[in-house]
Amino acid sequence: MRHLLSTEGLAAPDATAVLDTADTLKQTLLGREVKKLPTLRGRTVVTLFYENSTRTRVSFEVAGKWMSADVINVSASSSSVGKGESLRDTALTLSAAGADCVIIRHPASGAAHRLAEWLEEDGTQVVNAGDGTHEHPTQALLDAATLRERLGDVSGRRIGIVGDLLHSRVARSNVHLLRTLGAEVTLIAPPTLVPTGIEHWGAEVRHELDPELPKLDAVMLLRVQAERMHGGFFPSAREYSIAYGLNEKRLAKLPEHAVVLHPGPMLRGMEIAPSVADSPRAAITQQVGNGVHVRMAVLYHLLAGEELTA
Ligand code: ASP
Repeated sequence: MRHLLSTEGLAAPDATAVLDTADTLKQTLLGREVKKLPTLRGRTVVTLFYENSTRTRVSFEVAGKWMSADVINVSASSSSVGKGESLRDTALTLSAAGADCVIIRHPASGAAHRLAEWLEEDGTQVVNAGDGTHEHPTQALLDAATLRERLGDVSGRRIGIVGDLLHSRVARSNVHLLRTLGAEVTLIAPPTLVPTGIEHWGAEVRHELDPELPKLDAVMLLRVQAERMHGGFFPSAREYSIAYGLNEKRLAKLPEHAVVLHPGPMLRGMEIAPSVADSPRAAITQQVGNGVHVRMAVLYHLLAGEELTA
């Protein structure tokens, strides 16, 4: 595998291979006191984050460390980026310093692709850990891993993605991957939070949540991304919550087996009621756990690409 920049164009066999490897890694490490595999010994992984992150950055770091890679975390605020260094110069510096893989999060859509072009000659691998409102491929892969665990399979399932589609990279990555894996996707949002061109995503779009709930095998809630909003997209948090928040009454409308996902960070009381977030129907912490194994699998496929040594 060469770079992981998006799920658009990620072939089903490649996605399935990553998910299967993540499964194998999870089973291999299960119950082990020492969670360490020698697979990436001597390889250097750099996380380069220009935006805040808890789950993604930590789980990439844990993933690299559990595979015995040397992991170095660079945050834009404490690096030479703060002195005005460009993304290109920063990337070339990291590569020259020995990075085998750069994991980048950046507020500009397309930043990971640019980085991959600049580092192509050096052979440095690039993983997109979220670029603006564009894509977040490892989030979609860990969501698929969680759906496989909870539902047995993704193929033939109906997945609802609810909320701020306009600013969400999670939604786009999920639509592409879920469709590749054979799921049907329904996108549910107020008209103001639907991006133009959504008809090309290949998913149906609805504006009312309640009628969709009984048809879904899983509902994925998106955070309302206030940091990307310049203007009023809905009247108030309370009204958003009344129309789109997953509360207990709405949870009861879902089929018994349906699972609730959220990429985090959650805005409790807005897109999800605290009692729903903490209910056994929600797989939110399971998603985080799977994130580590999926990211180990991605690093494995990019940097080792051979039989597991575990
Ligand atoms: N953590 C996800 C992301 O970085 C979702 C979010 O921030 O709402 O895109």
